[in-house]
Amino acid sequence: MTDRKNSRGPMTLAIHAGEGPDPSTGASAPPLHMSSTFVTDQVAGFSAHDLEDASGYLYTRWGNPTVDMLERKIAALEGTDACLCTASGMAAASAIFLTFLSSGDHVVVSDVSYAGVAELARDTLPRLGIEVSLVDMSDIEAVAAALRDNTRLVHCETPVNPIGRLTDLSAVTRLAHDAGALVSCDATFASPLGQESAGLGVDLVMHSITKYIGGHGDAVGGAVAGSAELIGRMRLEASIHHGGILSPFNAWLIARGMATLPLRMKAHEAGALELANWLESRDSVTRVIHPGLASHPQRALAERQMTNTAGMISFQVGDAAKGQALAQQMIDRLEVIHYAVSLGHHRSLIFWMETAPLMETSFRLQGRQLESYRAFAGDGVFRLSVGLEDPADLIADLAQVL
Ligand SMILES: *Cc1c(COP(=O)(O)O)cnc(C)c1O
Repeated sequence: MTDRKNSRGPMTLAIHAGEGPDPSTGASAPPLHMSSTFVTDQVAGFSAHDLEDASGYLYTRWGNPTVDMLERKIAALEGTDACLCTASGMAAASAIFLTFLSSGDHVVVSDVSYAGVAELARDTLPRLGIEVSLVDMSDIEAVAAALRDNTRLVHCETPVNPIGRLTDLSAVTRLAHDAGALVSCDATFASPLGQESAGLGVDLVMHSITKYIGGHGDAVGGAVAGSAELIGRMRLEASIHHGGILSPFNAWLIARGMATLPLRMKAHEAGALELANWLESRDSVTRVIHPGLASHPQRALAERQMTNTAGMISFQVGDAAKGQALAQQMIDRLEVIHYAVSLGHHRSLIFWMETAPLMETSFRLQGRQLESYRAFAGDGVFRLSVGLEDPADLIADLAQVL
């Protein structure tokens, strides 16, 4: 892609980046290349190390034209040179950790993160001889204090699942880079429209593309955007050797969804603000967290860093017993909103996330870190992913139980 193309606006890039009329048929829509292998006219070696950039396609685990198309689209929207797509968001997270960390290295990971990432960092990385420090990334002094001579990577997530706490990306990247460490950021909640992660210094921008980027709840996938050098290392390690590649069919579905991502994010943001304001007005709701609300504890950072506050809301209704009872009422009575995990789809989704069990399974926080979590989440939150339905219908649905 040329520089001129990359300077186009996000709505144009989401539609046109990475694709063009098919040279062999003139098809306007991008083709789906469901082929595991590609006929070659070169006598070449069999190791990925022999593969030259310009040597064309050989085998889909090494590269596939439909997956490439989606990777170029995501890189264009993130403003990076390259992107690697993976079988899931978790495959993207493990690709980052297993490419850039080795035995004896140290990594700083957000003390709250997507539960799967939290468990991978706490349980798997130490088993491989990697030292892990779990840090509240909204506390810059704690990040500075955690950095060591052997720190190779700082992994953050903003806004963080499930509590909506933010990390100041320029402050964290400055500290990490001064210490010689790379920075990865799980930007799934923000989407590529929500913040300029790479522009703020993040080296590896990670997404579960199952969520906003695909946007339709029908395909699981992951992505990491970054420099050609870093993504090239990940492609060799994570895709070719570990093998967790994205299926071309999922890439095609997700690219189709991604064409409308900028439009959808505007609607998610507007709908979430309407719902968040309504929730704040209900007596049964004790606390609402959304980065677009004036009441968000880090509102100044949200205004400085976020270009779209997206559709994720977390809200509290009192103690855990109240939350559990309400969750059951939602399962029984909601007609539009689905009571289900996942997020970022056109369908609205809601799920009860109780603090105490999460502390046992995923986060295991104590002291100040637990206090910071509870400042956002209390005894538990309903995580509401506001979809693209009419906000009035979502409010009417919730009004049956709230
Ligand atoms: C869903 C999610 C993941 C994991 O993605 P999968 O596609 O389900 O593997 C990682 N991070 C965040 C913030 C998520 O919401």
